[in-house]
Amino acid sequence: MSKEGFSISLVNPHAPGLDWIQKIGIAVASLGLLSMVVGATGPANQDPSFYFWTGVFASIVGFLIYIVRTFSGKTESGNNHHIFNSSLMARGVAGWAFGIFLTAFYILLYWGSDSFWNNSGLVSMFHPVSEGLFGFYADKWFLYGFVYTISVLVMGVRAIIKYRHSNYQVIRTCSVMFFQLGFAFLIPMFLKAMSQPEYYFSYFWPLDYDLLWPNSVDGMMNAGTIGLWMLIVSALLTFVVTPILTYFFGKRWYCSWVCGCGGLANTAGDPFRQLSDKSLKAWKVERWMIHSVLLFITLLTILLWVNSYLEGGIFGSVSHELTKAYAFLIGQAFAGVIGVGFYPLLGTRIWCRFGCPMAAYLGLLQKYFSRFRITTNGGQCISCGNCSTYCEMGIDVKSYAQRGENIVRASCVGCGICSTVCPRGVLNLENGPTHTDRENNNPITFGNEGVGLRGFN
Ligand code: SF4
Ligand code: SF4
Repeated sequence: MSKEGFSISLVNPHAPGLDWIQKIGIAVASLGLLSMVVGATGPANQDPSFYFWTGVFASIVGFLIYIVRTFSGKTESGNNHHIFNSSLMARGVAGWAFGIFLTAFYILLYWGSDSFWNNSGLVSMFHPVSEGLFGFYADKWFLYGFVYTISVLVMGVRAIIKYRHSNYQVIRTCSVMFFQLGFAFLIPMFLKAMSQPEYYFSYFWPLDYDLLWPNSVDGMMNAGTIGLWMLIVSALLTFVVTPILTYFFGKRWYCSWVCGCGGLANTAGDPFRQLSDKSLKAWKVERWMIHSVLLFITLLTILLWVNSYLEGGIFGSVSHELTKAYAFLIGQAFAGVIGVGFYPLLGTRIWCRFGCPMAAYLGLLQKYFSRFRITTNGGQCISCGNCSTYCEMGIDVKSYAQRGENIVRASCVGCGICSTVCPRGVLNLENGPTHTDRENNNPITFGNEGVGLRGFN
């Protein structure tokens, strides 16, 4: 008798094996990764093209073969089967190993010496693509930008196939892929190739924390017309475009459609979204931390401008130390090392939820001045808990759905996954007519609106 014969589960409890196409994908990706490891020990410095094609390119092709085969054969209801039995996706040995690897990579990226990276074959194997496309040699930041962008694109294909029954998810994923590829990689690299300021149009203050600091503003003003234009665009994006779009659409227009951090979380991070902490304690910590970072960067920026006006007379050394502290603690350790390195351990939006000052700014607008809300048809909810499980921001969506209450939360990034995974169509992301009509005082719940059993009311 087969193993399944002993189970009383209503669904097949055993993870399916791999077919031959998936095995080919894994084999090609593994050989590609092996080639990258070998090349990184030195040989890629002599023959970068060989290691680019047999390492980087082969890995991408192998992962794509595996992803397309794995997810195209599944119905939407089967997408997350066996996820809590996976060592990688449920904090098993593979999850811890991947988390340690990612964290180590970020530590080396930020604080490893330049000579380590420049002598490393790993950077060399990206020379062919950097020279071919932009005409300059790769460095560790080119490597990072390329790997980040490819991760969003490859895992974006996975997200599109996995959530293909939802137009919202398909269009949203295409949007983050487009902004990452164009605005956060190609355009900045072409600007660098033309000896212009390396400007990232999809990141603005306060996320791009030093963008409006006096030194950066001076740099842009000195870069001529294009610099001045970038400066005006930056200020407009932060102080005009952001409030207007957030009023109409909530913070989702940025966090789930444009931002590269959100883009990585919703594509490469999708296998880990169920690991977010849903406890009330985490919610309390989250509110304190994220608003403290927003306060910190706002006060620091004001301090720097006052200091600049006084020509460093009073706050000179203090402001310098504070900028270094912010860059180290928030810009590198939190956003990079913890924010991405801990994906397999704490879920995908640790940075967006606990540290991002842009998310805090957008969240305040969303909470008090936006038409966005998630409506819940409580009468249809079967309390399966899918929505809460897969909410990457740790929101207990089910508790709202059970009460038939609209969800108006500062932290909701509007990714829409709660709605996508709900088997009963309970949840709907909506932009209402005004921002004042969002709290529904008369929610639809079973038994509340006259639905009941005669004789038992
Ligand atoms: S509540 Fe829904 S839309 Fe909001 S962050 Fe959670 S899963 Fe995404
Ligand atoms: S996924 Fe849908 S049915 Fe399940 S608990 Fe959430 S709202 Fe209710």
